[in-house]
Amino acid sequence: MDRLQSQEDEGMRCIFCGGQTTQKKVTFSYDEEEGKYFLVENVPAEVCERCGEKKTYSPEVTDELLKFAKEQFRPVRKVEVPVFDFAASC
Ligand SMILES: [Zn+2]
Repeated sequence: MDRLQSQEDEGMRCIFCGGQTTQKKVTFSYDEEEGKYFLVENVPAEVCERCGEKKTYSPEVTDELLKFAKEQFRPVRKVEVPVFDFAASC
């Protein structure tokens, strides 16, 4: 199998554990220091089958996600996000 410098859809490896990844639709969460927070649903990402949690986005997808950060699009819906303070629970 050819391994080019650019990462192909097939045969990508998890950068954390080296496990096989598969493309899945995930919800991307974005947050910034100033409390800017939003979610993008149905984002294609490479998800590791071994460690599960780790998601890798293609450069094209990352570009698209940055457009959401620049508020170029209108959100399809808004949800209330509960915010907890871990320190306050002790
Ligand atoms: Zn992994």
